[in-house]
Amino acid sequence: MSDERSETEAPRPTEQPIATSDEERGKRSVSKEDKKAEKLKAKAEAEAAKAAAKAEAEAAKAAKAADDDDKPRLRWKKKELPGGLWLKCEACGETIYKKTLLKGDLVCPSCTFHFTVPGTERIQMVLDEGTYHELAADLEALDRLNFTDSVSYAEKSRRTIERVGLKEALHLGTGEIEGRPVVICVLDFKFMGGSMGEVVGEKIALGCELAAERNLPLVIFTSSGGARMHEGMLSLMQMAKTCAALDELNRKGGFSICIMTNPTTGGVTASFASVCDVTLAEPGALIGFAGPRVIATTLKQELPKGFQRAEFLLTKGQIDAIVPRKDLRHTLARLIDFSERAWSEGESA
Ligand SMILES: [Zn+2]
Repeated sequence: MSDERSETEAPRPTEQPIATSDEERGKRSVSKEDKKAEKLKAKAEAEAAKAAAKAEAEAAKAAKAADDDDKPRLRWKKKELPGGLWLKCEACGETIYKKTLLKGDLVCPSCTFHFTVPGTERIQMVLDEGTYHELAADLEALDRLNFTDSVSYAEKSRRTIERVGLKEALHLGTGEIEGRPVVICVLDFKFMGGSMGEVVGEKIALGCELAAERNLPLVIFTSSGGARMHEGMLSLMQMAKTCAALDELNRKGGFSICIMTNPTTGGVTASFASVCDVTLAEPGALIGFAGPRVIATTLKQELPKGFQRAEFLLTKGQIDAIVPRKDLRHTLARLIDFSERAWSEGESA
């Protein structure tokens, strides 16, 4: 920086011809003033540049700090090791035998990091064996906007369906939790990041209607990157639609629980995931609207430690409780009993 400044100041002539006439003397004083102004201007510019660089460096530092803080858990994708028998925990780096991880409900045995659970496994984990009955499994997305990035949305959907073996990102059905019948919705992160398009919105609404009709509690599990951008405005409309459906269920005396799991972000956090009667989260789950890096660079300030993690959100009142995976079934069963008692007592009162 100091080198630059000396360069801008350098062209100042050191030898001035001696003025002989008044005119020349006047000229000389004018040029002297000009030079003085120029020098001041250069100095001010250099200082402004210095300040801008400092602010930029500080923002980068804050972003890096937020990044480092979140590093262990930001990456939720499973990194598989060759052979497919072992994988590495994204949080602590421990090498885990895959069968051990599966036996332990996809929770790291050394640091208790809760891996993202695919929809089918989640249903097996939460519901009583053999009770799941899937509904509206054939609903498929329509490419109404003819959206194309590298490939068309229709083509992308087709390929995802083929690869994942699911028609959409949400599993809807009925089942039992410790003998209590429920309507269940599970977002599946492996289908286009669990993103919410028209079908996800429709299935949540169907789930609400079914819960009201059969007088059953509605249990929703979320893991999502947010609204599905390929559906543009139509995906954003699902935010209003799902909230309206849950509101209708509430008016009819229904009961809903949402369990936010790692990661729940964007339009899903900003709609149905946040408006159920009870909002639970799994330990360490990333829950937010925009990503922490975007927020840090926009605000140009350091984010608090643990920002957008379940534990942080619990202290802010965004969620009601954090429930470890092994306690989920029992906690859900207790909450369902509680809601039924509250409802029947409310009716008799
Ligand atoms: Zn771990």
